[in-house]
Amino acid sequence: MSGSRFMRAIRVREFGAPSVLRLCSDVPVPQPGLTQVLIQVHACGVNPVETYIRSGSFARKPALPYTPGSDVAGVVEAVGEEVTAVKAGDRVFTTATESGGYAEFTVAAENCVHKLPDALDFSQGAAIGVPYFTAYRALVHKARVTAGETVLVHGASGGVGVAACQISRALGLRVLGTAGTPDGAKLALSNGAHLVFSHREEGYTDRIMEATEGRGVDVIVEMLSNVNLGKDLQMLAYGGRVAVVGSRGPVEINPRDTMMKESSIVGVALFRSTPEEKKECAALLLSGMEAGWLRPVVGPHYPLDQAAQAHHDIIECPGAAGKIVLTM
Ligand code: NAP
Repeated sequence: MSGSRFMRAIRVREFGAPSVLRLCSDVPVPQPGLTQVLIQVHACGVNPVETYIRSGSFARKPALPYTPGSDVAGVVEAVGEEVTAVKAGDRVFTTATESGGYAEFTVAAENCVHKLPDALDFSQGAAIGVPYFTAYRALVHKARVTAGETVLVHGASGGVGVAACQISRALGLRVLGTAGTPDGAKLALSNGAHLVFSHREEGYTDRIMEATEGRGVDVIVEMLSNVNLGKDLQMLAYGGRVAVVGSRGPVEINPRDTMMKESSIVGVALFRSTPEEKKECAALLLSGMEAGWLRPVVGPHYPLDQAAQAHHDIIECPGAAGKIVLTM
């Protein structure tokens, strides 16, 4: 149906600065394969990893040219013959796409397409994929949290951080968060954090220790490990775990800090999730959307033609206040 139709989409023809994100208006609308879904995109989340890939610095590089974007929300336009989970007209969100989400239409594999409950708008739907699936993986599959434990979401004001606060609270954890600005702190507090600290203030880790009566935290979900990992090890309680979600460089730690507490550092890589893990995570998240505790917080919106600005700002502008999304 769509072979002769064209759409607006961002195309990357060479790796480099944000300016390599070029808007093209003559990109053919992709066709869904047998087990694929064609979606008219209303919004697409912007994730930091898309900037690393675009710059060419990421370990896994797509073939050029390509369209970035995994987390879209929109309406199903058409489905392949073997698709049964969704049908034309359904509101959906995705956790991955085949043809790229910074576009008016995208094709996604059926198992990466989920129905979007009416309570969430398309921008919120575009804020679920990478952030919420990563937060769940860090907390449940990697740090193996149990109700009653204390978690520190180190970087609670961004996409993954807000998701981690909401999920942690729903799982019965005591939730401490950090943010860099008063607005970010407010955001974390209104999304599940019991207490929030400023990671820009001298001595804030001492105040976190005081908030645990000196015992330390059981789990840290860490967004900037290259800055914080050494201190994190000192803030852990006996048997504590640091889940390394984000890191932008090397860091020196003292391994001795892990010994007396028998603590662990565990890496988190969303793309390592098995189909079973993804299914389990999707079930929990969908129940959260229905029950009302899962409410993605969308920050700045950018029109598709400002994708380059969005890539600049997500890395260069501190003071996160929810998820950055592109709207079509
Ligand atoms: P984001 O929306 O840009 O948020 C970044 C967060 O980091 C903000 O809350 C920011 O707080 C916080 N931050 C800044 N300085 C900090 C510091 N010194 N200590 C602690 N936190 C600090 O990004 P995101 O989408 O949430 O992603 C967060 C990180 O996780 C990124 O590095 C991303 O690449 C990574 N990630 C990894 C995976 C994986 O599979 N491992 C998956 C998704 C994301 P303020 O702006 O308020 O200062």
